[in-house]
Amino acid sequence: MPSIKTRKSKKRNGAPKQPGRKNDEQRRLGFKHPRFKNDLQEFPRGAKGLIFCSDCGAVYRKKSWRHSLLNVKPPKISSQVGFKLCPACKMIRNNQFEGEVTIVNVPTKLKAELNNFIKGYCLRAYQRDPMDRLIKIKNEGNSVIVTVTENQLANKLGKKIKNLFNNTKVKTTFAEIPKDVSRVRVEFTK
Ligand SMILES: [Zn+2]
Repeated sequence: MPSIKTRKSKKRNGAPKQPGRKNDEQRRLGFKHPRFKNDLQEFPRGAKGLIFCSDCGAVYRKKSWRHSLLNVKPPKISSQVGFKLCPACKMIRNNQFEGEVTIVNVPTKLKAELNNFIKGYCLRAYQRDPMDRLIKIKNEGNSVIVTVTENQLANKLGKKIKNLFNNTKVKTTFAEIPKDVSRVRVEFTK
């Protein structure tokens, strides 16, 4: 039966990483895609002033979305303050997602632990970046399907699950259509 690895065993053993391998891997996994590309599409040159997301309260200033006004210099002209949905809230509202992690053959006794891990991991990601969000966790039979707002978050989550649980293998596909969606499949083997 698969079991939870201890923290110690999470450490990589075997050959050290080959130089340059990470870049290839990142390219394969789509890490080359620009961060905040939704913002870039929306504001090609970066929007002027200050924008508040009317749903989550995130703040857009100088080409990035943040949690709060802390360390943000307000614009000199008050008219440059506005409200708009941030890309993550817009995605959630439109029932879209950018990353999907499908975990199959989940042993019943590990389901609760897996669910808690996913929630905790995504919460920490959100605390670092307001655009990184868990959208939904669906438990269907022995499968757990997770949707998130960022393809990189899905890739990282898949790898973390593989590192945390024994007897799992992970496979990532990066779909062009629908645009930029990363689909990660994690399988519990015997
Ligand atoms: Zn928002």
